[in-house]
Amino acid sequence: MKILAVSDMVVDRLYSAQVAERFRDVEMILGCGDLSYEYLEFLVTSMNIPLLYVPGNHDPAYDEKKKAAHAEGCDYLDREVRSVKGLNIAGVGGSIRYRPGCPNQYTQSQMYSRMSSLIPKLLWYLPMHGNVLDIMIAHSPPRGIHDENDQAHVGFSAFKDFIKTFKPRFFLHGHTMVYKSNIVSPITKVGTTTVINVYPYRIIEI
Ligand SMILES: [Zn+2]
Repeated sequence: MKILAVSDMVVDRLYSAQVAERFRDVEMILGCGDLSYEYLEFLVTSMNIPLLYVPGNHDPAYDEKKKAAHAEGCDYLDREVRSVKGLNIAGVGGSIRYRPGCPNQYTQSQMYSRMSSLIPKLLWYLPMHGNVLDIMIAHSPPRGIHDENDQAHVGFSAFKDFIKTFKPRFFLHGHTMVYKSNIVSPITKVGTTTVINVYPYRIIEI
């Protein structure tokens, strides 16, 4: 199956009336954050396939009661798990906290506690759905993988521990720019997990 993963930057090639034709063999879209909800809504409407996404640090706070700050027609996957077209997919949004008071920014320990609220869901869900987590989507990279040393782009240690424990087949993220000199490759293998920086978009075959 081909999956279109997007993050951080609007791309003309996708924000185009030809997108459905260009990517006609793609069966799912995954959003890794920091994209306008109009863009996500355009993609899900034009391509008419499932779109699951997590928020980035530039996205608004999600209001669960009002369903506000939500991309219409898309599935908000922050700390949730779904089975879509035979694939188990989980997600967690946000970046490291670098400006207090902003939504979707967390300290290392806050991310550990956010992940600990996802883990019981996975332990309950995965045994009923083949026991394998196929894809984990996040906005931030794991610490030490595709991340940067500056305050806003350090990755999360909790994600590295998560990869070691749950061994997802793929871990997709955005947030850091692949053309920065200290980031050698957007694809890194960690054990059996393939970690991919999808910025600004990438086709994943699974
Ligand atoms: Zn970001």
